[in-house]
Amino acid sequence: RYQPCREFHVVVLGAGGVGKSCLTAQFVHNEWIESYDPTIEDSYRTQISVDGRQVMLEILDTAGTEQFVAMKDLYMKTGHGFLLVFSIASRSSLEELATLREQIIRIKDDPNIPIVVVGNKADLGDHRQVDRAKAYHVSQEWQAPYYEASARTRTNVDEVFVDLCRQMIRRDDI
Ligand code: GDP
Ligand code: MG
Repeated sequence: RYQPCREFHVVVLGAGGVGKSCLTAQFVHNEWIESYDPTIEDSYRTQISVDGRQVMLEILDTAGTEQFVAMKDLYMKTGHGFLLVFSIASRSSLEELATLREQIIRIKDDPNIPIVVVGNKADLGDHRQVDRAKAYHVSQEWQAPYYEASARTRTNVDEVFVDLCRQMIRRDDI
């Protein structure tokens, strides 16, 4: 049976400085750039193959600088899947995710929306402030998978996007 290429909207969310732009750039362009303008919000289109299916992703790398609450509501509404990113070197960045998740669930009016929790900067083990077990526990409460990743070393970068794609495809199939 002919399967058209599906298009999914992915929203990358998290506190400022956790590595959202670096993760997105590593995934889309395979490149490490040390520094991005933290105020820039941009979207990227990329086509990938997941379990033999072609998927077109529209990825919004958010910057948390929305001038109007309505803008945030809008991209949360149009998102099909969300990467919730924190830094393992910042306890408060994990705490910030709880509010974002509540907003997503309220705006989508759906407790089962595809989400992946990403503990970025896994290469900074010496500066770890969030235990792996703690983050895993939080993600379990949210019924979402947890990955530790590093945009810097390109660890688990593809994996988090692919996991999210699998969740979005599964929902689409139901
Ligand atoms: P954003 O505000 O969430 O988009 O964060 P950025 O992607 O701009 O990254 C913020 C800072 O963290 C920059 O100085 C990056 O070089 C650094 N950074 C991002 N990802 C990693 C990572 O995986 N490991 C390390 N060590 N630094 C990172
Ligand atoms: Mg950024």
